[in-house]
Amino acid sequence: ERKAALAAATGPGATADGHTVPLLANIGGPADVPAALEAGAEGVGLFRTEFLFLDDNKNAPSEEKQIEAYRQVLEAFPEGRVVVRVLDAGADKPLDFLTPGDEPNPALGVRGLRTLLDHPEVLRTQLTALAKAAEGLPVHLEVMAPMVADRIDARAFADACREAGLAAKFGAMVEIPSAALRARSILQEVEFLSLGTNDLAQYTFAADRQVGAVSRLQDPWQPALLDLVASSAEAARAEGKSCGVCGEAASDPLLACVLTGLGVTSLSMGAASLPYVRSALAKHTLAQCERAAAAARAADTADEARRAAQAVLSGE
Ligand code: PEP
Ligand code: MG
Repeated sequence: ERKAALAAATGPGATADGHTVPLLANIGGPADVPAALEAGAEGVGLFRTEFLFLDDNKNAPSEEKQIEAYRQVLEAFPEGRVVVRVLDAGADKPLDFLTPGDEPNPALGVRGLRTLLDHPEVLRTQLTALAKAAEGLPVHLEVMAPMVADRIDARAFADACREAGLAAKFGAMVEIPSAALRARSILQEVEFLSLGTNDLAQYTFAADRQVGAVSRLQDPWQPALLDLVASSAEAARAEGKSCGVCGEAASDPLLACVLTGLGVTSLSMGAASLPYVRSALAKHTLAQCERAAAAARAADTADEARRAAQAVLSGE
């Protein structure tokens, strides 16, 4: 039993009946790589590249500086998957030289991909640096855009990736309800989806993620959020493409089982959560996860959804 527990604590993510769910790490830069490797991450599901832009609030980092940082991360996962998110500036991550300072509602303004489409040279440099950093490496590089609202956004990002000569899969983050509702249309332009449940909750419930007073609405167990996860995952399945989760939701072991039951194909989280999620998944079959997911979606509140999923998974 100890042996099985140990294997489950280090092996690839899978349910008790062998349905694989790659477990990936969220990182903010090369400094986070050792912890991810130690926790047995099968790759990186969200590389937040904002850190590179924090040193200098007047200029974007040079192509050379970016190549160096990307290369360090890509080399650490020789055969693995590394999903890099292009710069997500604005709202909770403002950058002086890119973010308009006079917006009444920065979270609803020019942020994420919108910022990059207004500053195409910043996006171009980032994509070119990624293409060069990946040259000659066997890594499976994937690149995704934050805050994709619709098919026009997805196409603009895909075009920019093609123009930069990027030999990578490109994808869209689903962080805005419109993207979840029309996921199939977005998938006509990109090769994968990744659910950013932190922002998706913020925009679904009109509840600022930085305002503690509305934190009840930020709970990723909210059935409305689970519905949007389910419809995104279904759209990806119908298109034969993948749909991961890289928001905080993936780091809750019970919710990770529910997300798997909703059809999500990979889970990405802070390294510290990986062993807990891995062992929770290993205890339940895919069918059990699907039943827990159905029970959670049938609930009316986040607390009821949590209890309903718990009852299904502990009662069997
Ligand atoms: C998210 O919004 O869920 C996400 C993963 O991105 P960030 O937390 O960096 O906005
Ligand atoms: Mg986000």
